[in-house]
Amino acid sequence: MNRDIAGAIECVRERIAHACEGVGRDPESVQLIAVSKGHAEEAIRAAYHAGMRVFGENYAQELAAKASALSDLPDITWRFIGHLQRNKIKLIEGARATVDTVDSVRLARAISARAATRAIDVEALLQVNVGGEAQKSGCAPEEVPRLVEAVRLLPNVDLRGLMTVVPHLEDVDATRPFFKALRELAAAHGLAELSMGMTYDLEQAVEEGATMLRIGTAIFGPRPPVER
Ligand SMILES: *Cc1c(COP(=O)(O)O)cnc(C)c1O
Repeated sequence: MNRDIAGAIECVRERIAHACEGVGRDPESVQLIAVSKGHAEEAIRAAYHAGMRVFGENYAQELAAKASALSDLPDITWRFIGHLQRNKIKLIEGARATVDTVDSVRLARAISARAATRAIDVEALLQVNVGGEAQKSGCAPEEVPRLVEAVRLLPNVDLRGLMTVVPHLEDVDATRPFFKALRELAAAHGLAELSMGMTYDLEQAVEEGATMLRIGTAIFGPRPPVER
C-alpha cells in the first residue's frame, strides 16, 4: 500500500475547515467518518494511526471480519452505513456498531429486541431517501414523523438523527435542496445528528449543516472492484 492516507486525511480536514470557515461553523461540530468498505485492514490501520477513530462499513460480514481483526485498536468505533437485513443484525453485534440506516419500524424493533438481550442500547439514525430515487434505500420523507415516533418508543434503540445519500448530480450545488430538506426534517423532530455529505459534496453538506461526513474515496482512494 503506497497511498499517503495520513496526507489524504489532512486534505479532507482542510476541506472541512475551509467549508466551516465560510459559514462560521466550528470544525469540531463536524465528525469525520472514514468509509472503509472494500479497503484492506492495513489501510484502516494507517487511517487509525493518522488519528481517525470512527469508521463506516456497508456490509455486515465485512464489518464483522474487520472489527474482529482490528480489535487490538482500543478506541476504534464502527458505524454501519449499508442496507441492513434483519437476519444480519447478529453479525454486526461484535463490532458494537451504530446503525445509521434504519428505514423501517420492523428493522428498528428487531435491533431493539436483540439489544435488549445484550442489555445495551444501540445508537441509530434514520435513513431518508430525500431524492426519492427508486434504487436508493431509506424511508420517504413523508414517513419520517411516523418512524421517529415509533422508534422513540423502543427501549433499546437510541435515535440520534437522520442520514441520507443524496442524488449524484453533475452540478454539485444542486444537491443543496436535499441537504436542506434533511436538516429541516431533523429540526422538526428535535434530532441533532445529520449524517450527509460524501467525497463529492462535502463542502455543500457542511454548509447546509452536516454533523457527520462519510468520506471514503478522498481518504482511501478509489475502491477496488467488489467481489461478493
Ligand atoms: C461508500 C459510501 C460513502 C463514501 O463515499 P465516497 O464518495 O467514497 O466518499 C458514504 N456513504 C455511504 C452510504 C456509502 O455507501
